[in-house]
Amino acid sequence: MDLEYGERYEAFRKEVRSFLEANKPEEPLAWKDRQAWLSLQIEHGYWARTIPKEYGGYGAEPDLLETVIMDEEFNRAGVARGFMAQGPSMLVPTLLEHGTEEQKQRWIAPTLCGEVMWCQGYSEPGAGSDLASLQTSATEDGDDFVINGQKIWTSTADKSQMIFVLVRTEPDAKKHAGISYILAPMDTPGIEVRPLRTMTGDLGENSFNQVFFSDVRVPMSNVVGKRGEGWKIANTTLKHERSSLNANAEGTWLRLKRLMEKETVNGVPAMASPVYRDRLMRLQARALTMKHHGMRMLTCSLKNDSPGVAGLVVKLQNCQLSFDMAALAIDVMGELGVLYDHTKYERELGFWQSYSMFSLGLIIGGGTAQIQKNIISERGLGLPREPKPAKA
Ligand SMILES: Cc1cc2nc3c(=O)[nH]c(=O)nc-3n(C[C@H](O)[C@H](O)[C@H](O)COP(=O)(O)OP(=O)(O)OC[C@H]3O[C@@H](n4cnc5c(N)ncnc54)[C@H](O)[C@@H]3O)c2cc1C
Repeated sequence: MDLEYGERYEAFRKEVRSFLEANKPEEPLAWKDRQAWLSLQIEHGYWARTIPKEYGGYGAEPDLLETVIMDEEFNRAGVARGFMAQGPSMLVPTLLEHGTEEQKQRWIAPTLCGEVMWCQGYSEPGAGSDLASLQTSATEDGDDFVINGQKIWTSTADKSQMIFVLVRTEPDAKKHAGISYILAPMDTPGIEVRPLRTMTGDLGENSFNQVFFSDVRVPMSNVVGKRGEGWKIANTTLKHERSSLNANAEGTWLRLKRLMEKETVNGVPAMASPVYRDRLMRLQARALTMKHHGMRMLTCSLKNDSPGVAGLVVKLQNCQLSFDMAALAIDVMGELGVLYDHTKYERELGFWQSYSMFSLGLIIGGGTAQIQKNIISERGLGLPREPKPAKA
């Protein structure tokens, strides 16, 4: 087996490495500086590399090894490539697949460089795992829909300029058939955001909210895909949400390794402890498995093949892995691991504490672990479907 990447790719690696040596910013970045950093990455093709130029991307042909090399080099430099948020990882691929030309032109470029932030209006108090039970309604009035209802657990709604929201436009149609997928500006009159306090406290960049809609008027041209076909569009977004969670297990593992080289336990570096080192090695095996699994998925998507059951396991595996990596980091920090109010003893601005709680949340968000297991067994392994609850 030849594991060398070859001359052309090693030249590409050199190019990425020198770009990072010359431009790598000092973290944490202010939001405005982050936008400039993202735009610079796009200009050089290290972010949004395969998104067409006319939509604000770099316009390169997809290439598996280039993606792997960019990830490896950004991880090595300890900086994020692009950014993980609902806009770039979920809405952009959905618009590329189902959006009108006008929607693509209008929204993709500002989303990629972080100028427009998006939130996802799916869950409702009565519709979580059983998402198709959603009741938020949109009724036709001239060229507009008028939306009424409530969403819950809407991450970053308080910071977003836009929402992609699922609404019921066909109340008489069957549960899955009457849903539409609509884009709405968050400053539309009638939208009210109420924050929900979570256990991450002020560490939570990913704030939680309720979003109330009272007679919110949105043009019908903001529907993505066809009216009443929102379930299909929503599932495209969910597919991208779940696979984006595979993003960077290796990067997090390298960060954990750096922490273990620095932290001491009873005056000895944590890395020297056989118990911690053993846990780190086990996590490395899982992180590398996820990395290679990601390469396999990327290969499938380049060939337009469906990854089948391999695609379904990503979210389940990766969310648990993230949580287990954070658990080791917190153990290694000993009593400092339980701090999460900013104090002088805190490490990495509380990254690991926040990451631990966030990873725990992600075991639930985007479809719980139990729902993922149902999906894997029914759609992936062809096991019998679970019985439907009896109608009252
Ligand atoms: C960190 C985080 C971020 C989130 N961000 C967003 C967001 O931005 N936008 C958004 O719309 N939503 C968001 N959510 C909501 C998330 O999608 C829902 O919490 C999730 O789908 C579960 O729904 P629920 O909370 O109503 O739980 P329920 O569906 O009520 O489930 C409760 C429990 O029952 C189990 N269960 C339910 N049905 C079955 C079944 N058929 N078989 C076996 N077990 C079952 C579940 O696994 C769970 O343990 C987020 C959630 C979290 C935790």
